[in-house]
Amino acid sequence: MIELDALTKRYGGTVAVDGLTFTVKPGRVTGFLGPNGAGKSTTMRMIVGLDRPTSGSAAVDGKPYAALDAPLRAVGAVLDAAPLHKGRSGHAHLEFLAATHGIPRSRITEVLELVGMAGAAKRRAGGYSLGMSQRLGIAAALLGDPGVVILDEPVNGLDPDGVLWIRTLLRDLAQEGRTVLVSSHLMSEMAVTADHLLIIGRGRLLADTGLEDLIDRVQVGTVLVRSPDATPLRDALVRNGATVTADDPGTATVRGLTAAEIGEIANRESLALHELTPHRASLEEAYMNLTREAVEYA
Ligand code: ADP
Repeated sequence: MIELDALTKRYGGTVAVDGLTFTVKPGRVTGFLGPNGAGKSTTMRMIVGLDRPTSGSAAVDGKPYAALDAPLRAVGAVLDAAPLHKGRSGHAHLEFLAATHGIPRSRITEVLELVGMAGAAKRRAGGYSLGMSQRLGIAAALLGDPGVVILDEPVNGLDPDGVLWIRTLLRDLAQEGRTVLVSSHLMSEMAVTADHLLIIGRGRLLADTGLEDLIDRVQVGTVLVRSPDATPLRDALVRNGATVTADDPGTATVRGLTAAEIGEIANRESLALHELTPHRASLEEAYMNLTREAVEYA
C-alpha cells in the first residue's frame, strides 16, 4: 500500500503538492490523473524518497521510503524514461542493480523476457529507442519483484504497440496483487487503463473515485428539447419531476427525464416536438470540468 497524509511540497512561492491525503490499494490499477503541472511527478518523487516533503508524509507498506529495509523489493518506480548510462548495455545496467541489491542473476533474464527485451539487452543503451528505454526502465523497476509499482506517464512518446503493451502489463501486475500507481494527464488513457482514479489539480485532490462510479455519475445526461409549444411543455415536464432551463425561446435543456419519457409526456399532452436530443456527458468532459480551474490557473 501507499499512504499519503497531508503530503505537501513547496518550491519557494509555488505549492506543487498541497495537502494530499489518499491511500493506493493493492490489486488494482490506480490512475493518478491531472493536467500538466498538477503535481503528479513531485508526489511520486516524494513517495520514493527523491524529494523531501515540506510537510506531511508518504509511506510505503507503513514506512517512509528511506526506512524500508529492501527498497527495491518493496517499490519499483519508473519516473524518467532516459536515466541510463549510454555506453553501458541494458543487461549490464540490470546486472549492476541486481548485484548491489542482492537479487539473483536469474531474475535479470526473467524481467528482460517480461518486457520483451531479451534479445536487445546486450546492445549499448545509447542506441535504444524511447520505447526500448521505457521497457528497460520497467525491467529495472520489476527486478526486485516489488509489491508496489509506480510509473510516471509511461505511455508518453510510445507507439500504439507500446501503449497497448504497457496497458496489459499494468493489468497483469495488478492482477498479481500488486499496488500499481500510474500517472497521466490524459483521461482517455486512464479510462482504458485504470480501475480507480485519483484526480488532482494545483496539487490538490479533486476526486478519489472508482472509474465505474465516475462513469455512472457522468452518465446522468441532459436532453435538448425544441418545441413550438415550449411553455406548456415546460410546465408538463416540471410536473413530472424534471428541471428545465430555457436556452432561448423554443429550446430547453431538460434534466431528470429521459428522451423517451419526454416524448411520451409530449404525446399525452398533444404538444409538438421539433427536436429531442439526448446528451451524455463524457468522462473527458467530467475531467475537464473538474480540472478547469486548475488549467486556467496554470
Ligand atoms: P506534473 O507531474 O503533474 O506535470 P509536477 O509535479 O512536475 O507536475 O509540477 C508541479 C508544480 O511544481 C509545477 O508548477 C512545477 O513547475 C513545480 N515544480 C516541480 N519541480 C520543481 C522544482 N524542482 N523547482 C521548482 N518548481 C518545481
